Amino acid sequence: MALPLSLAKLAGAMNAVVTRFAPSPTGRLHLGHAHSALVGWRAARAAGGRFLLRIEDIDRGRCRPEFAAAIAADLAWLGLDWDGAVRVQSEHFADYRRALDRLEAQGLLYPCFCTRAAIKAEVARAGAAPHGAEGPPYPGTCRGLAPAERAARLRAGEAWALRLDLAKAAARAGALWWQDESAGRVACDPAPQGDVVLARKDTPASYHLAVTIDDALQGVSLVTRGQDLFDATHVHRLLQALLDLPVPRYRHHPLLLDAAGRRYAKRDRALTLEALRQAGRTPPEVRAMAGFPD
Ligand code: GLU
Repeated sequence: MALPLSLAKLAGAMNAVVTRFAPSPTGRLHLGHAHSALVGWRAARAAGGRFLLRIEDIDRGRCRPEFAAAIAADLAWLGLDWDGAVRVQSEHFADYRRALDRLEAQGLLYPCFCTRAAIKAEVARAGAAPHGAEGPPYPGTCRGLAPAERAARLRAGEAWALRLDLAKAAARAGALWWQDESAGRVACDPAPQGDVVLARKDTPASYHLAVTIDDALQGVSLVTRGQDLFDATHVHRLLQALLDLPVPRYRHHPLLLDAAGRRYAKRDRALTLEALRQAGRTPPEVRAMAGFPD
C-alpha cells in the first residue's frame, strides 16, 4: 500500500533525504543535465527531503559566472526549486585546504611536477594497458623522487600538483564498501584510478577532493549522478575514510542518450534548455524529453 503523501514526507524528513545537483558552469545545461537534475530533485521531493544546488567551478579556466547564473535560471524555468543557498565551490578553497593539510599530515600526498605530455610519454614507454575515459592512471613518476630532488624542484619554483599515494592510502584505510542503489554493496577498489590529483597546478583543489568534502559538509545523504562517475566513487569513498567523513548512499543513473544513442554533450546546441525554450517547448515537454513525463 502506498503511504499517504504527508506520511511519506514525514518518513523522508526523519530519514533526512538530502540530494544535490552539482553542475560545472562550462556551458548551458542540456537535456542530459536536466535528466540528472530531475533524478535528484524527484528523489528529494518524493521523500519530503532537501534538494541542493552546488556550482562546481574550481576549474577557473573553463568555468564562467554567466553560465552559473544561467544554470539557476534554466532549472527554475524547468520547474525545479532547491533548498537553501547555492554553494559555489570557488568560495570555499579554505575547506579544501584543511582537508589537504590533514592528508598531508598523514604522509599521503606528494608533489607531482609532471606535465601532461610527460605522463603520456611515460605511459607509452611502459606499454599502456587498456584504460577508460579518464585515460591511463598516473604511472607514479614523482612518487619516488628523492627528498633532496623534490625540495630542489619546489625551491626552483617548478609548477606542481598534489597527488594521493593511493596504495599507501588504501592500506591505511583498510577494506571499504559503499551502498549503490543499483549495484548494491560495492567493494571499494580505487587502485585502477591510480594516484589521483587532489590539488591541481592551477587551482588548490580537484574534482575528487571538492566533491567529497562538499557532499559531507552539506549533509548530502544520497548522491545522485550519472553512471559515468561510478568509478570516481571508489576514490571518494577512500577520501571519506581518510578524512572521517560520513558515507552517503549513491544512485548512479544511466545517462540519457540522444536519438542516435550518444550521450548529450556541449556540441548539442539545439538541445540546450535555452534553445528548447526559444523553440517554444514548454517545461512539461522538456521534462518529458528528459525522461520525466509528469
Ligand atoms: N560537477 C560534475 C559534472 O558536472 C558532477 C559532480 C557530481 O555529481 O559528483 O560532471
